[in-house]
Amino acid sequence: MATDSERNERMEKIVSLCKRKGFIFQSAEIYGGLNGCWDYGPLGAELKRNLRNYWWQKNVTERDDIVGLDGSILNHQDMLKASGHVGGFSDPMVDCRTCKARFRADQLGEAKCGEKPSKSPLENGCDLTEPREFNLMFQTWMGASRDETSVAYLRPETAQSIFVQFKNVCDQTGERVKIPFGIAQIGKAFRNEINPRNFTFRSREFEQMEIEYFCRAQDGLRLTDEWLETRIRFYEAIGIPRDKLHILDVPDGERAHYSSKTYDIEYDFPFGVQELEGVAYRTDHDLKAHSEAVGKPQEYIDQAAGEKFIPHVVEPSAGCDRTVLAILCEAYDEETITDEKGKEETRTVMRFDPKMAPIKCAVFPLLKNKPELVEQAKAIKAQLQPLMNVTYDETGAVGRRYRRQDEIGTPFCVTVDFDTIGENGPDLEGTVTVRERDSMAQERVKITELAGYLAERLR
Ligand code: ATP
Repeated sequence: MATDSERNERMEKIVSLCKRKGFIFQSAEIYGGLNGCWDYGPLGAELKRNLRNYWWQKNVTERDDIVGLDGSILNHQDMLKASGHVGGFSDPMVDCRTCKARFRADQLGEAKCGEKPSKSPLENGCDLTEPREFNLMFQTWMGASRDETSVAYLRPETAQSIFVQFKNVCDQTGERVKIPFGIAQIGKAFRNEINPRNFTFRSREFEQMEIEYFCRAQDGLRLTDEWLETRIRFYEAIGIPRDKLHILDVPDGERAHYSSKTYDIEYDFPFGVQELEGVAYRTDHDLKAHSEAVGKPQEYIDQAAGEKFIPHVVEPSAGCDRTVLAILCEAYDEETITDEKGKEETRTVMRFDPKMAPIKCAVFPLLKNKPELVEQAKAIKAQLQPLMNVTYDETGAVGRRYRRQDEIGTPFCVTVDFDTIGENGPDLEGTVTVRERDSMAQERVKITELAGYLAERLR
């Protein structure tokens, strides 16, 4: 079992690697940073895209019973009044009369107070006010006038646009959506969190990957259990093993009032076991609330059975940024190896599942001042480029280039050497060395077979 200080140190190394290698930067860093907002750099953008694409592939493309939606980020105030967000989407907060900081009243133990040395407000004996409710939504105004009628909100979750488009989706997609069926969405959500913290874990702007799976009331609980298992298998498939996940069966009193079953899927982050995703049985609460608000039943019509009803819904709601963070934490590894000269060194390696790796393959010429090697390496890069994200590197010793790719988790490195161009005889001409990241094992592969060789191993 790692100690707290080992876990802190590990997290610091992950955060520093993310910045150094261009995975994640603080938003507006040169202006002192925008608290709770993050920019994904070149590698982070690829990693996040791989996650989004895989989630979409598994939950929409490969399923007959789920369709996609891409709703607007600006939400109608009446829609969020009906959903309960305007009146009730709040956290309890307290202020410290001494240091003037504001904390979430239910997370005082984890918060850090402004006094030095920084302790939790409880340890520091902060002079706290009584808790007050603080609405987490970002409010704005649409159009030229700023009054009550022009108020709109940045959406606090993607789910609500799915509920309010439910009837349109049913009417327009006909045969494809027969209950049970789902509507899936990936997109930004915004919450004015009182204490953003733990790197990207609790941000003010983040992305969700949500499914609303509509069903009959009698199937709700069973489908909640089925979705839980489906989602755990998804995490395993992207490189997060089951034994690092914890399932919390959220007890009565802690669930949303309308939910009769909620599981939180939690991951063992270096800063503690924390939620990645909620799988919630939301009953018919949302569609009913919108039906009442607009005065029209948001119902499902089963033509064959001659039935009309407001369906129940199971919602697997995952955080894209939190999952990216879990992937980064899970992938980070350090090992001691002996280099070619017999010297021990630490190898930092991001052991990404190949599907998630931002760059799939790096191509090197053995020497950069030998034009035949450079030309051949660049030709291989160009040949692979339409098939996968590939990079070219000619600077420094090959050993150092391997280390650089290990640090960003590139599964394969391809080196073009003198054998490739036939300088050592015809036997190995037209072949390259392929080196695998985790085992560091090297294999000779024909250039003509390289694309197939890599594709098979990246799958
Ligand atoms: P938490 O209890 O951590 O505040 P929540 O239960 O309010 O989260 P949900 O409303 O269920 O979260 O949102 C679904 C998912 O959206 C969460 O499981 C999480 O992955 C993601 N998410 C929610 N809030 C944030 C945030 N502030 N930053 C990053 N991701 C978030």
